[in-house]
Amino acid sequence: MTRLAIIIPCYNEELCIKSTVKRLLEVFDDLVKKGKIDTNSYIYLVDDGSTDSTWQIISELHSQNKQVKGLKFVRNFGNQKALIAGLEGVRELGCDCAVSLDADLQQDENAIEKFIDEYNKGADIVSGIRNNRKTDSIFKKTTALLFYKLMNLLGAKIPANHSDFRLVSKRALDILNLYPEKYLFLRGFFNEVGLKTAYVRFDVKPRIAGESKFNFVSLMGLALNGITSYSIVPLRFVTVLGFCMAFFGFIVGLETVYEKIFLNNSPNGWATAIIMLCIFGGIQLFCVGLIGEYVGQIFREVKGRPRYIKEIELK
Ligand code: UDP
Ligand code: MG
Repeated sequence: MTRLAIIIPCYNEELCIKSTVKRLLEVFDDLVKKGKIDTNSYIYLVDDGSTDSTWQIISELHSQNKQVKGLKFVRNFGNQKALIAGLEGVRELGCDCAVSLDADLQQDENAIEKFIDEYNKGADIVSGIRNNRKTDSIFKKTTALLFYKLMNLLGAKIPANHSDFRLVSKRALDILNLYPEKYLFLRGFFNEVGLKTAYVRFDVKPRIAGESKFNFVSLMGLALNGITSYSIVPLRFVTVLGFCMAFFGFIVGLETVYEKIFLNNSPNGWATAIIMLCIFGGIQLFCVGLIGEYVGQIFREVKGRPRYIKEIELK
């Protein structure tokens, strides 16, 4: 029988956790009755350094029901780190497969049954694909669309409307454990790892309570990490662009010399020169910044700092 672990990253989610856990325990009961999961399945809540009463609520839920387990970080490390900690934590505690889900229950918990069905049919990874983005702001819709288009252009084949709502098998967890990189981009990892993958579509609901914990800066951080950890195409682009610009300059130079010597005509046009200077200066700065992003990624990885620091774990 399948032992299921549900991983929930939580950051200041005091308004959501109780009802989310209650609802998921109902889903467990239903799946146990249908003979799809084992009775020792559990929920693993990762408190990503919340400053509200999230951890008190997790401890309370744990003392009432040992199916609810928890891990607390010493500070906020971000949603990806909390997810990775969850995946590592349930691997240690033991499970046959793990599903990650947001604390606000925006993802349809009824899809978990379909995830398990796909798992039983042999999939190692079952990815949830959003049916729509009705609950997202126009800004988030546009940036998400651009991000997925760009990622695909850059060679990381991530389906659009992908989410971190997914099931992974014990085997996938063992493989994840072999990846030492600290700033792992999970959506990229699970797509390129090569294990049998199934897709399940689900509806996105509004948040049950509270507000989104992501802002512009954290979303851009996630996107840049996704790009710099999964594609070197931008670096190639910089090389090709640099070559093209140098070639262009060379041709223009030749033409100027030719005009001077043979036509005795020294070209005028300060405005053009200034515009060209600004454009090329801008392109150069952009490219240096782009390379800087990769150097930054190397800098962060090479220090080998731990992904996160645990404070307490309730098993
Ligand atoms: N989250 C987290 N650490 C953070 C930010 C968010 O663990 O630094 C969790 C959050 O508690 C939630 C999930 O990540 O369970 C998704 O966050 P949210 O619902 O705010 O994002 P959105 O749905 O707006 O993309
Ligand atoms: Mg949400």
